[in-house]
Amino acid sequence: METVLKASLSAEEWSLVQMAEDVIGRAHAPFTEVQVGSAVLTEKEVYGGCNVESAISGLGICAERNAVNHAILHEGPDLKIVALSVAWNRREMIRPCGACLQYLNEFSNNDVKLIMAEKKGSTVMVGYLREMLPYRYEI
Ligand SMILES: [Zn+2]
Repeated sequence: METVLKASLSAEEWSLVQMAEDVIGRAHAPFTEVQVGSAVLTEKEVYGGCNVESAISGLGICAERNAVNHAILHEGPDLKIVALSVAWNRREMIRPCGACLQYLNEFSNNDVKLIMAEKKGSTVMVGYLREMLPYRYEI
């Protein structure tokens, strides 16, 4: 993984980060107040998602998986995710959890570029699914 200036991202990557930042405010996070936005780029389109918490422990869902589910809703289960961005309402860089990395793996062709940001920050961390989840569960 490497930290790069947002300004060095491609236009497509920039729009992916922008969408993740734009949907942070839609998160339902009354318990932790951790609001997360995410966006996935498929081979066709960009789709956003935010985290949704529940009073029942374990019932909520991360922004990243919600973005993937949003993409599936529009493109069906055979879609291929090329890149994912994630941002939140905190100063430090966010990273996807292990469950989301595994979920992403199930809807990618080979690898997924990951762009991790802090809201309104000037830098992002860029990495790849293979380096963040090297021993993925495969059926
Ligand atoms: Zn997650």
